Amino acid sequence: MKGKLYLVATPIGNLEDITLRAIRILKEVDIIVAEDTRQTLKLLNHLDIQKHLISYHRHSDEQKQNSIIDEINEGKNIALVSDAGTPVISDPGEEIVKKALEENIEIVPIPGPCALITALIASGIDAKEFSFFGFLPMNKKLRNKKLDEIKNSKNTVILYEAPHKLISTLKDLNNITKERKLVLARELTKIHEEFISGTAQQLLEKVIEPKGEYVIIIEKAEMEEENIFENMTLEEHYNFYVQTYGMNKNDAIKQVAKDMGVKKNEIYKNFLNK
Ligand code: SAM
Repeated sequence: MKGKLYLVATPIGNLEDITLRAIRILKEVDIIVAEDTRQTLKLLNHLDIQKHLISYHRHSDEQKQNSIIDEINEGKNIALVSDAGTPVISDPGEEIVKKALEENIEIVPIPGPCALITALIASGIDAKEFSFFGFLPMNKKLRNKKLDEIKNSKNTVILYEAPHKLISTLKDLNNITKERKLVLARELTKIHEEFISGTAQQLLEKVIEPKGEYVIIIEKAEMEEENIFENMTLEEHYNFYVQTYGMNKNDAIKQVAKDMGVKKNEIYKNFLNK
């Protein structure tokens, strides 16, 4: 019988952030496939778990992937973990998941910490709809494309960033986000956990020497309301409020004047006899 592939989320800092189920699975599996075996060994030592570890990172070749799949096909249960947080999210694992699915291997996600969700829920920024872009690309063309998407995003945007690139990313964001609010979630779940908010410009003033790990949360772009009145006559504009919203004459005139940025009396003259 084939084994199973468990995708096990591990702490992003605080070692207490691991689920009972994750601990049980790490104890029960035959092999743990880890992004960095030394890093995972620290966690396993903390949990008093001794297990056969195999390394698998973003540069691992197809042969490595196949050998992991072969183990599962031969009946071994495998847990895949990344250095921190949820495997596959800006971390290796996606290729193995795809290959496992092709081989009809059962995939069992073991949920737990994930930096983007941890940052978002405490940011105070709209969490109803959001886009996660991971790390911004370094390639200029691809980066500009992403920045353009952020500029016009109708959702909250979440980014990951390394400390040594934070300032240049904030500078790029400053060019496109202007007055929008950003939150930097730093060192989540660790001793120096911190949430710093402000416009990109204010963040550039506050964060001089970035240290630690950062998630960047960006408020959605204010969409300019489509000016549906632009091509209407004054009469159509007035009737829109009377017919669509059932407004009385006075209120409709007040609203038309507001839309047009003129004094109420100027509009009123046109409707004296209505
Ligand atoms: N798989 C991980 C997850 O579930 O969040 C993300 C791995 S990605 C390679 C690493 C990036 O995640 C860091 O550069 C940082 O942007 C973010 N990150 C991870 N841990 C963090 C923490 N404790 N505080 C803030 N950001 C963190």
